[in-house]
Amino acid sequence: MNQKQMEEMLTAACKKDLASCTDQEIYTGLLHLVKDLAGTHRSDEGKKKLYYISAEFLIGKLLSNNMINLGIYDGVKSILDSHGKSLSRIEEIEPEPSLGNGGLGRLAACFLDSIATLGLNGDGIGLNYHLGLFKQLFKDNLQDEEPNPWIKDTSWLTKTDVTYEIPYKGFTLTSRMYDIQVTGYGNRTNTLHLFDVETVDESLVTEGISFDKEDIRKNLTLFLYPDDSDKAGQVLRIYQQYFMVSNAARLILAEALSKGSSLYDLPDYAVIQINDTHPTMVIPELIRLLTAEHGMEMDDAIQVVSRTCAYTNHTILAEALETWPMEYFKETVPQLIPIMEVLDDKVRRRFDDQSVAIIDKGDRVHMAHIDIHYGFSVNGVAALHTDILKENELHNFYQIYPEKFNNKTNGITFRRWLLHCNPQLTALIEELTGSGFRKDAMELKKLDAPEFMNNMKTLHRLLAIKDGKKEDLALYLKETQGVDVNPQSIFDIQIKRLHEYKRQQMNALYLVHKYLEIKKGKKPTTPITAIFGAKAAPAYVIAKDIIHMILCLEQIIDNDPDVKPWLQVIMVNNYNVTLAEKLIPACDISEQISLASKEASGTGNMKFMLNGAVTLGTDDGANVEIHELVGDDNIYIFGDSSETVIQRYKDGSYCSRAYYEADPSIREAVDFITGPQMLAVGSKEHLERLSNELLTKDWFMTFPDFDAYCRAKEQAYNDYENRTEWARKMLVNISQAGFFSSDRTIEEYNRDIWKLD
Ligand SMILES: *Cc1c(COP(=O)(O)O)cnc(C)c1O
Repeated sequence: MNQKQMEEMLTAACKKDLASCTDQEIYTGLLHLVKDLAGTHRSDEGKKKLYYISAEFLIGKLLSNNMINLGIYDGVKSILDSHGKSLSRIEEIEPEPSLGNGGLGRLAACFLDSIATLGLNGDGIGLNYHLGLFKQLFKDNLQDEEPNPWIKDTSWLTKTDVTYEIPYKGFTLTSRMYDIQVTGYGNRTNTLHLFDVETVDESLVTEGISFDKEDIRKNLTLFLYPDDSDKAGQVLRIYQQYFMVSNAARLILAEALSKGSSLYDLPDYAVIQINDTHPTMVIPELIRLLTAEHGMEMDDAIQVVSRTCAYTNHTILAEALETWPMEYFKETVPQLIPIMEVLDDKVRRRFDDQSVAIIDKGDRVHMAHIDIHYGFSVNGVAALHTDILKENELHNFYQIYPEKFNNKTNGITFRRWLLHCNPQLTALIEELTGSGFRKDAMELKKLDAPEFMNNMKTLHRLLAIKDGKKEDLALYLKETQGVDVNPQSIFDIQIKRLHEYKRQQMNALYLVHKYLEIKKGKKPTTPITAIFGAKAAPAYVIAKDIIHMILCLEQIIDNDPDVKPWLQVIMVNNYNVTLAEKLIPACDISEQISLASKEASGTGNMKFMLNGAVTLGTDDGANVEIHELVGDDNIYIFGDSSETVIQRYKDGSYCSRAYYEADPSIREAVDFITGPQMLAVGSKEHLERLSNELLTKDWFMTFPDFDAYCRAKEQAYNDYENRTEWARKMLVNISQAGFFSSDRTIEEYNRDIWKLD
């Protein structure tokens, strides 16, 4: 399509002359144009199809990405420019779909992009949460939650006429399927299917994000991960999960039947990837439908389903592995009970080992155990994570089914995390290496050549791009968060869900330490801006206390004229994909400081690396693989190894107070939390609870790593001063990032698990 045709199409879509359109009208026109074009990229279904079922799809805004994938981004941008319209302003109009929480949901979104880009026949299946996770606000230095409605009249959702009757104890709900097109980069369009109930009622939400948890008809698809700190909340999770998988199972069977499957050959028509344990009930539900509605014998149905389902494990945190009381299933989906009892009974006959049972002595159902026994593949999400699963958490399963276990190191889509969010860096890479990296990320390795690494001009251009992105971010933060930041400072960024294992508290303790040092007169050479972005689960008390500590610190430093020019702390509110796209390209130092063994993979670490940030991190998750690729000189690794940590947990030998007593820096920083300056701006209850938690428990072992963390960070800040050396580190990181393309990850899933043609 040439520019003239494009302009005609765009004008037709906007229904009037572009110059006289408002940004909103152009946005609406573009949305329709993109939907139409994406529809022309549908490909043959093919026989076998992948169904990626996930409670979350953190897809981010879609307009620009779809335009990039359809190859019309530059053309549209220049047409709009010529009419005095700004595409970046128009992009601001799009609300970010609020269908995910963190890394797991973002992974699902990157995977959908790569599946379509590789031309594979694969759709996503999830739920259409009207109010999303929640919108984060800060009030009195505390997190507050509000609903995050994102569905507008014009949105990417298309209503379909697919509906099912989903049975629960005592009532049924009528579902409806909504579709979002998933465009591949220069390739086919797939679909994200989101199921909803027609009777959902947003007015059920009263204060903040509270609502009547028992009115299932009205609340089922209001929120992702509604509060489950009480029984009603836990039961609601089961209602949601069953709704997701029962709809999925019906859709999958209908599609297979329509292509001529006898259902005994279902594995030739369908492969189901179960993303974490939330969709686990798809296994008993499929077995139920095959036996009850399609006349299959139980043993045959179990066989067929086991050959169709594959499971991805995302965590080794015991508290994050779902188990539900049998009684809850009886109250909600009693039709699954006989199936689950058969599945449990078969396992018991084969293995005299409580640790692999499905229903435990306390009558709780272990969801992951269903997946492992009755799926054909179990994968971890980074090499270290898969090793730990095999050797520790799932060791007993690994001994039974060694052939099921495999690793698929996570990845990210370079369309969003390079082409879209950093066109300036994309252009430089293209100029230096050609355009091959756009389709084959491993071509980034071409950057690792003396002609670039030793070329002052190239290195300075790289630094200039980073400086430009820092200025862009400073403007954006001023406009959206009302804060002033110094774009000449070092941008040291930790953005991810708030969790004690991710150790935002360790970063915060460092900042207290740094604050006190500066007070004593030890100023850094270059000023430092420490940026946080993190939502805490509404019922996670200590996580909210950590946010409180950071916000209080932000205020104290901002009001301290001695320190303010040298150190700034910022916590952006409502961290989401849109913010990540602005923060990551502007980052100098990427904080990946989880307690070794606890971060399954991380994908933020990959996005930062790709955009030329240098990692400060522990040897954990995919950091291990980043470390191997870039070498010791281009990453700052510190802290205890995963072996040491795992051993320390086994010993039960850790005593945080001993570190507090022995290390004056730790003592000073911890005492500060409940000192007069913090109490003047914060809440005694929150600050004392946090300090107490650290002193008496510190379950994620911040103190043992604290000194090493401080030293590694000072080293990074010092190295930053040598700008050309630093630029070389940046370039090495970019050049080695190709391995972390989700295209590579998806090729491996397809080669080893899905086997689509
Ligand atoms: C990539 C991403 C994550 C995951 O970050 P980790 O550092 O890997 O935990 C979470 N949220 C958003 C918005 C992301 O883009």
